[in-house]
Amino acid sequence: MKSKQQQTECRRCGTCCQKGGPALHGKDLALVRDGHLPLTDLITIRRGELAHNPLTDRIEPVVQELVKLRGVGSEWCCCYYDAARRGCSIYRNRPVACEVLKCWQPEQSLALVGQDLLSRLDLLPSPAPLRSLVLEYEHLNPCPDMGEVEKALAEQAENVLSTLEKQVNSDLAFRDRVVRELGLPLALEMFLFGRPLFQLLQALGVMVSEAPQGLRLAFNREGRKGEKQ
Ligand code: SF4
Ligand code: SF4
Repeated sequence: MKSKQQQTECRRCGTCCQKGGPALHGKDLALVRDGHLPLTDLITIRRGELAHNPLTDRIEPVVQELVKLRGVGSEWCCCYYDAARRGCSIYRNRPVACEVLKCWQPEQSLALVGQDLLSRLDLLPSPAPLRSLVLEYEHLNPCPDMGEVEKALAEQAENVLSTLEKQVNSDLAFRDRVVRELGLPLALEMFLFGRPLFQLLQALGVMVSEAPQGLRLAFNREGRKGEKQ
C-alpha cells in the first residue's frame, strides 16, 4: 500500500465517507435550494456540542453551528455512500467539502474547516413557520456547552444531574409537542433541532431510564464520543 507521501489520487477506499458526511458551506446552498440535498438528509450539530476538530485533532465544543449530511441509522457513515459500488451516489452534486477532499493532501480541506458554514436559518427562507420553530426551540432549549457539562459531571455529577434532567425533559417535551400538535414529520427533526440532549449526554457516560415523570439520569464515568466538523 502506498504511503500518503506517494499517493497522488483517490483510491476509492471510502474511509472519508464512512467517517461521516461533510458540513455544508455557502457554495452548497444551491444544492439544498435545488432539491439535490433534501432537509431530511441533513443533521444539525448545534453550538456547544462536542465534535472532532480537524484543525486541532481534538474533540471540542463546536463554536459555530453546522449542518451536515446525516448518517445511516446510528452510524455516522454518510447516507449517500454506496458501499456496494464504493462510491458517492450524488457524485455530481456532492458538497464542496467532498469536492476538495484529498486525504493525501489535506491543506484545501483544512482551509475550509469552520469557514462560511451554513446554519439552519440559512436553509430556511424567511418568513417560514419552520424558521420560527427553530428560533423558539433555541430560545427554550439552548444546547449547553458540553465541554463544561463533561467537566461538571466529572467533578460533581450529583449536583448537575437534576438540572440536566430538567433540560432533557424540556427538550423532549418540545419535540413531542411539535410532532403531535403541528404534525411535524419526524424525518425533519434532526435538521430542525439536532440530536436530543439525552443522546449527547449518553455519549458522556450518562445513563438514561424512563420514569413516570419523564427521563431519569444517572452517571457512569466512561469515555466520550463526538462528531467530526
Ligand atoms: S479521499 Fe482518501 S479516504 Fe477518501 S476515498 Fe479517496 S483515498 Fe479513501
Ligand atoms: S456526499 Fe458523497 S463524497 Fe461526500 S461524504 Fe457523502 S458519499 Fe462521500
